[in-house]
Amino acid sequence: MDAKPAAICAACNRVLNEGRSAIYDSLFDRYFCDNACWSDWYAENWAEYKRKYVSREDL
Ligand SMILES: [Zn+2]
Repeated sequence: MDAKPAAICAACNRVLNEGRSAIYDSLFDRYFCDNACWSDWYAENWAEYKRKYVSREDL
């Protein structure tokens, strides 16, 4: 296995390999492992912000 890292989680710094899915924050251009990491990083966790800018993407 030499899957190259596609992104790094902005909350916990885990390497997110190509082929998996991740949470993407399009306003800040950052990737996260999952909703829990995104919530840790974005403390306010506004529903409207999330609806506009946060989505699950395939890497
Ligand atoms: Zn993470």
